[in-house]
Amino acid sequence: MIDIVILGTGAMTPLPERNLSAMLLRCEGRQILVDCGEGTQVAIREYGYGLKSIDGIAITHFHGDHFFGLPGLLQSLEHAGRTEPVWVAGPEGLDEMMERVLGMTGDLAFPVELRSEESFVSTNLLIETFPLSHRIPAQGYKFILERSGEFFPEKAREFGVAKDQWSRLQTGETVGNVTPQMVMGPKRKGISVVYATDTRPSRSIVEAARGVDLLIMDGTYPNEEKMAHAVKYGHMHFLEAAALAAEAGVKEAWLTHFSHSIEDPQEHMKAAQAIFPNIHSSFDGKKATLRFE
Ligand SMILES: [Zn+2]
Ligand SMILES: [Zn+2]
Repeated sequence: MIDIVILGTGAMTPLPERNLSAMLLRCEGRQILVDCGEGTQVAIREYGYGLKSIDGIAITHFHGDHFFGLPGLLQSLEHAGRTEPVWVAGPEGLDEMMERVLGMTGDLAFPVELRSEESFVSTNLLIETFPLSHRIPAQGYKFILERSGEFFPEKAREFGVAKDQWSRLQTGETVGNVTPQMVMGPKRKGISVVYATDTRPSRSIVEAARGVDLLIMDGTYPNEEKMAHAVKYGHMHFLEAAALAAEAGVKEAWLTHFSHSIEDPQEHMKAAQAIFPNIHSSFDGKKATLRFE
C-alpha cells in the first residue's frame, strides 16, 4: 500500500491558499518527500503528517520553488530528534547545491547521503529517476512497490520446509536447498507512481509512466493560449499533459504546479478530460491510497 498526499500545487511563489508543489509518499510507516519549496514543512504538518519518519527527499530540480525549503526542513528534522541518515536525491548539480544547503544548516545530528544514481531502494520502494525537459537539468521520479508471487503452502510442505520457515521463503531467502522460485508463482503487478514536474512533454516521461497507477505532472498553464509561455519556460499546459497521459496508458493522472493566473484549475478540466477521461486537477491536501490489485 502507498499513501500519497499532495502538499502543494503552486508554481513560483507560495500563496496564502496554495503551497508550492510538493508531494509526500508514505509506505509501511516511512515517508519520502518529493520537492521541498518554501513552506513545505508547514504543509506537511498542516495535512497531519510528521517530519520524523522522512527517510529521503527527492528533488526534481534546483529552481527555488522546488528546494528553498530544504535547509529549514533539515534543521527541523534535527529538532525532531533525527539521528538516522536522510538521503537527498537530485539531478546534475546535486553535490554543489547540497554543499551550499549544508553550509547554511551547519553540522547536523544525522548524516545526509546524496543519491545521484538512476535507481535505488528506500522504504521498501524501488525508486527510478528519468530526465525531464526543463530549462535546467531536472529529473522525474518513479516509485515502485513490487509484489512477490503467490506462495503455495502445499509445495513448501512437499519439499519438507517447516511452517516457521515459510516467511523466509516469502521474503526471498533460500531455506536448505529450497529456493523461493520452487514454492512461489511469478512476480505479480505492484504499485507504481510517477512524479514529473517541471517539464515539457517528453518521450522519457511516456516511457517511465507507461501503465502506472498514478502519474502526477506539470500543469502550469490551462491550454494552448499559453503555448508560447509553456515552451519558453519549459512547462506543459493541461491538454498536452492529458495527451501524454493517454499515450502512456496510465490508470489515473493528476495535474499540479499551477501558474498564479489559474484561479480554479477545475474550471479547465473538461477539455483535458475529453482527451484523457481519468485526468484530474490536484489541490493542496489531495490524498490517495494505492493498493495491490
Ligand atoms: Zn517550478
Ligand atoms: Zn522549474
